[in-house]
This record gives sequence, structure tokens and C-alpha cells, in this order.
Amino acid sequence: MKISIDYKSGFCFGVTAAIEAAEEELRVNEVLYCLGDLVHNSVEMNRLADMGLKVISYEEMKELKNEKILIRAHGEPPSTYELAQKNNLEVLDFTCPVVLKLQQRVHTAWLEAEKIGGQLVIYGKPGHAEVIGLNGQTKNKALVLSSSEDVHLIDCKKPIVLFSQTTKDEKGFYEIADKLKNYMNDEGLNPDENLKVHNSICKLVSERVPQLQQFAAEHDVIIFVSGKKSSNGNYLYSICKEVNDNSFFISSNQEIDFQWFNNVNSVGICGATSTPMWLMKEIADFIEKSAN
Ligand code: SF4
Repeated sequence: MKISIDYKSGFCFGVTAAIEAAEEELRVNEVLYCLGDLVHNSVEMNRLADMGLKVISYEEMKELKNEKILIRAHGEPPSTYELAQKNNLEVLDFTCPVVLKLQQRVHTAWLEAEKIGGQLVIYGKPGHAEVIGLNGQTKNKALVLSSSEDVHLIDCKKPIVLFSQTTKDEKGFYEIADKLKNYMNDEGLNPDENLKVHNSICKLVSERVPQLQQFAAEHDVIIFVSGKKSSNGNYLYSICKEVNDNSFFISSNQEIDFQWFNNVNSVGICGATSTPMWLMKEIADFIEKSAN
């Protein structure tokens, strides 16, 4: 049985930069605080916790004073920076540059929309850290939609500006855009004038889709490795499953069922933008030693 790893899987540069910064800091200091999970992968988070990384919530941050705190790639709303200043916290800001730019675009677009009584809409997962950061740019006045089924919540008589969380899928994004155009046409409004569509999905995420489809089609069985909380992981797994029904989602090698490999010639191992390469290699070694 041949086992291959998809070397295009694994951390994106935004996540890599934040992890390297945490590691560097923990080489000289015993403790570093991080607001929320640095990466949606419990195995990697346990490794960093062993090095001294302490993940705290917003509530815990309110009590933290005179310490250093790392802001992860997802970014934060302005209120977090205000709280850090109030509590004399030194901020190591590792907001991904792509997310930072998007925050600025959302802020500018929202100011423009406010002037003309318009509405800013974000296609994203409500409560996701990046979405909280983006919505903070609009004083939390943006409407967050998790699917095109919620389009009826938008008042289509107002001018609309549409953005996306960077890790969402293009299919869902354009479904929302198309529905909005249809609603506007039904209302006798010109979508060209009243609807601005900004596809702000990260290129690393959208390009992964055709790459993964090809990888999933080339193997008999796909082992997709990701933390269960990762929205990017759940989405990319669904892409593999669509192409190859023998795709299995695992977070660690303990979840492997060796029945999956009966009469199988090739196994492909891949993962999300939050999956460490070392974990995919470890899983490949484990399958190799146990199944062959
Ligand atoms: S997926 Fe893209 S936007 Fe998100 S952290 Fe990675 S590089 Fe940045």
C-alpha cells in the first residue's frame, strides 16, 4: 500500500508566522499569553502549551495586567486593543497581513455605506474570531450570514456591500451574491448600482480546492487530518468527500480504523491550513508501520 502526503496541505504563512513568533518568545520567556487558540488544532496547541503558551479568553484578558499577549492570525476587533492598552498589556500582533488588509477594507466600505444608508454583509461563521474582528470594524453593525438560506434577513431595498471571511467557500459566497442580485431585480433595483460584491476569500484557501480535488481523486483512501473546530478543515474535508467517498476525517492517529485500508493500493494524507506537517508525517509513519 502506497502512502503519500499532500505537501500543499498544512499551515499557511499567516499561521506559520504566529506559531514561529510564539516559539521564539517561549525560548526566552517561560510564559506567553495568547487570546484564543493560536491554531484550531488541539495536538499543535498541546505542543505549544507544553512550551509555556497559555490560551486565555476575553473574560480572562480583562483580569490580565502588565503581561505580554499574542494576537493570532485571525485578528481582533478594536475593542481588544483598547483593553490591552487599558491593562498595560504588551501586544505581539500576528494578525495575518491578508486579514489586516481586509479589516481596513471592511472599515472603509462600512463608512461609505453608512453615508448612503447602506448595509455591510459578511459571509462567515457567526462567532468565529476573524468574523468578530471584521465586524468590530463596523461597530458590530454588519450582518453576518452563514449561508445563502439567510439572504432573506437582508433588506434588499438598501445598497449592499458584500464581503467574505477569508476561509469561507466561493460556492456559498457566489450563491449569496446571486440571490441578492435576483432579489434586487425583483424589487426593480439595479444590482450594478446597489450591490458591491468583494470576494475576500484568501487565495490560499480557494486555490486549495482544485488541488485537493485532484489529490483526492488520485488515491483510493483519503485521510484528512484537522482539528474538529477548524471551519477551514471541515470545508476542505467536504471537498475531499465529494470527490472520494472513502475520505475520513481524523484529528489524531487514535481515530484510525484499519478496516479503511482493506484491499487498498493507495492512501493520501492531507489536511487543513491549520494542520501541522509534522502531524501528517507522524500519521503517515503510523499507518505505514501498522498496516503494511
Ligand atoms: S488562510 Fe490566508 S488569510 Fe487566513 S491566516 Fe492563512 S494566509 Fe492569512
